[in-house]
Amino acid sequence: MPAYPMDRTEKLEAENQALRQLLHTLTSDAAYNEGVMRRFQERELALLGAQDLPDLIERLTIGLRSSFNLESVRLVLFDPYGVLEELLAALGVPACNIPHLFIEREVQQALDRYPNLHRPWLGPWVRRHQPFPAPANLRSEALLPLRQPDGLSGFLHLGASDPQRFHSGQGTDFLDHLARLAAVCLENAVNRERLRLSGLTDGLTGLYNRRHLDTRLAEEVSRARRHRLALSCLFIDADHFKRINDEHGHAAGDQVLVALAKRIRDQLRSSDLAARYGGEEIAVLLPQTDLHNAGLLAERIRTAVTAEPVITTDGVAIPVTVSIGVATLRGDPETHPDTAARRLIEEADAQVYRAKTAGRNRVCCACTPL
Ligand code: GH3
Ligand code: MG
Ligand code: MG
Repeated sequence: MPAYPMDRTEKLEAENQALRQLLHTLTSDAAYNEGVMRRFQERELALLGAQDLPDLIERLTIGLRSSFNLESVRLVLFDPYGVLEELLAALGVPACNIPHLFIEREVQQALDRYPNLHRPWLGPWVRRHQPFPAPANLRSEALLPLRQPDGLSGFLHLGASDPQRFHSGQGTDFLDHLARLAAVCLENAVNRERLRLSGLTDGLTGLYNRRHLDTRLAEEVSRARRHRLALSCLFIDADHFKRINDEHGHAAGDQVLVALAKRIRDQLRSSDLAARYGGEEIAVLLPQTDLHNAGLLAERIRTAVTAEPVITTDGVAIPVTVSIGVATLRGDPETHPDTAARRLIEEADAQVYRAKTAGRNRVCCACTPL
């Protein structure tokens, strides 16, 4: 064995020590990175497994926050034309009721607030990036752009109380991958919901179609029975609609129908369901609403519809009135749910007939619960 001078041995030992230390650091870094990668992969699989758009939004916000142990995760979606908001409202989950989701209508203003969002941005927390409410203890943040083929659809905002959690020197490959996947999942979910809704809705008015009303009616009757809840129904029929078509033309009649549908929808809660039942007939299902309150709502709708004439695109003012029949679900639990559902609709329809024969432009209620 060659004899080394003492200082040489010490030097080799020190080198050996340093190499061991480096190996230890690299091994623990690798283990840490593997853990991070696994967490990212799990999250990405969770996004791919989302059932529908609201579920995807929840996985992107509450899900990300808990699996990455963050103080705050916000999803900001650009919606300059209000299409997304309309879609969520039609799904019965208005955007304003979804926690941690922010809809940004003013896209340019939003873009001016943020740094160049073509790549993830990491750094100390900046107040101007968050015009929405955020926890007070945020010290660092990551902004992840959601890029779609036709441009930026929004971004994910991750906030941490640890100032070192996100910093500018950090690698962003995993975050970038996650954001790309999130953007694709969002685009697919929105398209899927659009397609699903188009099968359930009427092309002219955007109201649900009769087939969907029938499905929901059966569900609502069963639910009302099971939980002993009230369920009422309105039948709304435009007065002398044939005359409107005859005097102003079918295209103007269509515009009146669209306006009528909107005026009705504006009076409803998100849990109510309005459907185009026939040509100029609209049925509205009102869960957890008794006959008295259904009658009050019907009167409110009648007033709102008749308040102003509909102005067509040609500038013609067309006054419109409606006759409304109101009925509520029978309490008799012996009746088959299908029969109870059919009676509910028939009774509301019978009340419309009463309103028509009594002179139109009025509300008629079944006097007592059937
Ligand atoms: P009433 O007050 O008794 O309800 O009179 P009405 O004229 O509204 O009733 P009627 O059932 O005789 O006529 C309904 C009219 O609605 C006839 C039909 O041409 C028109 N209509 C149905 N669907 C549409 C549509 O999609 N667009 C237009 N423009 N008209 C429609
Ligand atoms: Mg009719
Ligand atoms: Mg009519």
